[in-house]
Amino acid sequence: MNTVELLERLSNAFGPSSFEDDVRDIVTEVVEPLVDEVRVDRIGNVIATRRGRRDNVVLLDAHMDEVGFIVSYVEESGFLRLHPLGGWDARVLPAHVLNVRGRDGQRVRGVIGTLPPHITAEAERSKAFALDDLFLDIGATAKDDAFDMGIEVGCPAAPGYPFERLNDDLVMGKAFDDRAGCTIALGTLDALQGEDLDYTLVVAFTPSEELGLRGAWTVVNELTADVAIALEGTTAVDVPGVSGARKLASMGRGPCVTIADRSAIASRRVVTLLEEVAAKQDIPYQRKLPGGGGTDAAAIQPAGEGVLVGVVSVPCRYIHAPLSMLRPSDLDSSIKLTTAFAREAGALAP
Ligand SMILES: [Zn+2]
Repeated sequence: MNTVELLERLSNAFGPSSFEDDVRDIVTEVVEPLVDEVRVDRIGNVIATRRGRRDNVVLLDAHMDEVGFIVSYVEESGFLRLHPLGGWDARVLPAHVLNVRGRDGQRVRGVIGTLPPHITAEAERSKAFALDDLFLDIGATAKDDAFDMGIEVGCPAAPGYPFERLNDDLVMGKAFDDRAGCTIALGTLDALQGEDLDYTLVVAFTPSEELGLRGAWTVVNELTADVAIALEGTTAVDVPGVSGARKLASMGRGPCVTIADRSAIASRRVVTLLEEVAAKQDIPYQRKLPGGGGTDAAAIQPAGEGVLVGVVSVPCRYIHAPLSMLRPSDLDSSIKLTTAFAREAGALAP
């Protein structure tokens, strides 16, 4: 499996929260030959099961959705207003290109409009944008014109940038949070092909994580897991001006093992096993500093009698922005770590 090609395909797919169909199609196609059973539940989780010698379940989770928007209003002038799907900082958005999906599936591109400096007063220039101030310009001349282009209230939108290889070990694209996690999950299943596991491995590709972990809540209503790992693209902040406790993770130092984030504290036994297998196999890794956002692990941990959870993530710069970066070497080490963990995880699911 060529992981960079897979990441490219997944990153380029359109999939804002609750509009993940294109991602689901790719994931389903790639996962089918790697497992015994694939099903899609009503909320849109892809649940792939690889049966082992026992019924105990180890769950790998990756979310399919990306942060995006829905059209919240069409101005009489044809400009679009946006409602966020997931956590955006409006300051990163002006002048960026979005793809809107029209009523009949057509792709309509537009730019988030800005005012030229020529007419902007000094005081105005230092003012931050609020999401309510932003408008998307798709070139429509009127509301009716936008409608004829397929655009109306409720159409979803996502950043409109293709995947790029910047050098041998650096790629840039949208939606690495969490198509990087989807790539780790698929890469791990691929690496485990033909191996006999003493438990049942379930891989869940979830929708709507960015809207409050909605897919993951549903997964743990449907099945009982003993152990779970959320796979993510996470906040590398090895950039100028960030140091100390704010520098949660760095690119190029291997996968991040989460100790705690804003939503959950990882189970000690999972962290210990992840670090043991990494040490045994010489896989580079870093402890992600506590803080930052949340993951599906928060929804999974309290299910049933409780689930032992951990998070393995690829350090990505600029997540929740129109473009992110990651190092393929970090992605490959993340797959190695998750695979090595999966080989031993039966010990945590007796
Ligand atoms: Zn994520």
